[in-house]
Amino acid sequence: MQFYKEGFRGGDPDVKSAVPGWRVRDSFAALPSEVDVLIAGCGPAGLCLAAQLAQFPEIKTMIVEPKPGPIEKGQADGINTRTMEMFQAFGFGETVKRESYWVNQTAFWAPNPQNQGHISRIGRVQDVPEGSSEMPHTLINQARVHELFLDVMKNAPTRLEPDYSWGVKDLVIDLSTEDQPVTVTLENTGINAGETKTVRANYVVGCDGARSKVRTAIGGELHGDAAHQAWGVMDILANTDFPDVRQKCLISSATEGNILILPREGGYLFRMYVELDKLNPNERVSSRNFTADHMIAAANRIMQPYAIDVKEVVWWSIYEIGHRLTDRFDDVAEGVDRNPRVFTAGDACHTHSPKAGQGMNVSMQDSFNLGWKLVQVLQGRSDPHLLCSYSAERWKEAKRLIDTDHQWARIMSAPPGESELDSGDMPRFQKQFIENLEFTGGLAVKYLPSALTGPDQFQALAPGFEIGRRFHSAPVVRVADAMQMQLGHVAEADGRWRIYAFAGEDSAAGSDLYRLCRWLMEDPDSVVQKYRGQDEDIDAVIDLRAIFQQSFDALLDQELPEILKPCTGKLGLQDHEKVFGVDHKEAGDIFEIRGVDRRKGCMVVVRPDQYVAHVLPLNAHEALSSFFEGVFKPRSD
Ligand SMILES: Cc1cc2nc3c(=O)[nH]c(=O)nc-3n(C[C@H](O)[C@H](O)[C@H](O)COP(=O)(O)OP(=O)(O)OC[C@H]3O[C@@H](n4cnc5c(N)ncnc54)[C@H](O)[C@@H]3O)c2cc1C
Repeated sequence: MQFYKEGFRGGDPDVKSAVPGWRVRDSFAALPSEVDVLIAGCGPAGLCLAAQLAQFPEIKTMIVEPKPGPIEKGQADGINTRTMEMFQAFGFGETVKRESYWVNQTAFWAPNPQNQGHISRIGRVQDVPEGSSEMPHTLINQARVHELFLDVMKNAPTRLEPDYSWGVKDLVIDLSTEDQPVTVTLENTGINAGETKTVRANYVVGCDGARSKVRTAIGGELHGDAAHQAWGVMDILANTDFPDVRQKCLISSATEGNILILPREGGYLFRMYVELDKLNPNERVSSRNFTADHMIAAANRIMQPYAIDVKEVVWWSIYEIGHRLTDRFDDVAEGVDRNPRVFTAGDACHTHSPKAGQGMNVSMQDSFNLGWKLVQVLQGRSDPHLLCSYSAERWKEAKRLIDTDHQWARIMSAPPGESELDSGDMPRFQKQFIENLEFTGGLAVKYLPSALTGPDQFQALAPGFEIGRRFHSAPVVRVADAMQMQLGHVAEADGRWRIYAFAGEDSAAGSDLYRLCRWLMEDPDSVVQKYRGQDEDIDAVIDLRAIFQQSFDALLDQELPEILKPCTGKLGLQDHEKVFGVDHKEAGDIFEIRGVDRRKGCMVVVRPDQYVAHVLPLNAHEALSSFFEGVFKPRSD
């Protein structure tokens, strides 16, 4: 984390200097009548988007929420490793690591073959495969995740805060103008309930959940399972003789149904999901009147011979959900040739069961994908056509999620021991759980070749940085201060592109790496120079980092190209954090771990949402230029 670039300022470095003119929100302050982006809904999708946009003073953002304030408990709790990597970029990955429960193992319980009325442990699986991410899979209250995003927003230069007690009622798009073409009608849900107000926006993002008004306004419909699947969920403080209560457990009884146990933050709390359609017929019929007491009774029957003594029910709910998906995530119908103005994200465009623990994760990943694209377009750096890539990229991932969730639900629901489901040495559901781990970790996402994802012609230069997949971090040592760290952690959620230049065996002055650095710094037509504004820092749009094969001490005295020690900010202070060597303390050699070609080196181009966009030889200046021509517009100043 770097700070004081613009001069010394005491206090919490996470609280950025406020820009003049930020909107003061006292109780009687009027709502704005015009904004750049209006976000509907303060769930994970909306807050993740707002936290990104809040960093940009030139973008006027508003986020509305019909509830009177933030939620305090309940809803989802699973944060997969990919989302933890994203949290790191927002600056609160370490906070979540400290506060959350880490899912290290998942245990499987099934009817005991000797006594079908009792359950016994049939297997255990390491939950995060070795080397799949530097971050853990965690469980934490959704409300706490909201709070962390709200802090990022409030501490951002725009001091963005939600407008609570306002919801989107309707919207219309005026295609005859480019100037705030979306008129949104907001409705008050607080003390002035029913009062309406209109706001004009350049873009509207519906993060307003499964019953999205924004989706309805643009003619979107959720298609899929009509039959809703019902889950009883409760967060409890309880004592039990069940030995795996601090492990994630999938428990399947012979006749009483299935439950899922998720231990939670703080050491005492845990969550139980009871699959209501698997309960006996009487209870299924009465599921509408199902209470926490019924759930506790069901859990005690399912978990025989073990018992649970509940001391406090913290939160409980009946969570009814189908597997459903809209046709697209924006307002442009198939075959229509225009750029989108309205988007949907998260549960507003796809819903699925809580079994795979993906709801909150996929929702945030949607808006992390959209955020930087909106920023680039609103800053005038990219053509609005860039925004078409949001629906194209995210719809495919949502479809995959729903298909996998379906398959998983089918396997989980099969009667235990059914022959066609038991394969070899382990039950089918355990086997499937292992096969799904990359997917449930959020690590299987792969964007197809497009203007934002280059061809794989030079993939062999770094097979471990797969084009289209998220940048898989690995250990390095920062040369200037010998700091052991993860290379991926240099990327903040700041809308910037990154080029990681891995040096080849020749890394002296005159090498391909030095020539690349000189081109980027000195040629006005290089990608770094061409797309930044006249008064912007050299790394304002594309941030170059170099990784050498030597350890830090061999590099300390090496004369570095200017672009690797640039002077930036209003004081022109030198940046010492652009150059890395390999780890010298047995954490591993990044060149070896990711298979980077030691002789030639390479460039790895990474998007602002941490996905690998391209792998190119260090001397491929022209190919790099033509790739970025598909991303940015030439500057007009
Ligand atoms: C009661 C409940 C229990 C849940 N339990 C679980 C669970 O146990 N496990 C699990 O994995 N997932 C659970 N989920 C789902 C999980 O919370 C979602 O998948 C995840 O929150 C999706 O994030 P989102 O931001 O897309 O939508 P949401 O979190 O649903 O957020 C949508 C937000 O939009 C607001 N909103 C609604 N209408 C409007 C409007 N007209 N204008 C503006 N804003 C509006 C809502 O008040 C809400 O704050 C639950 C959801 C709910 C609602």
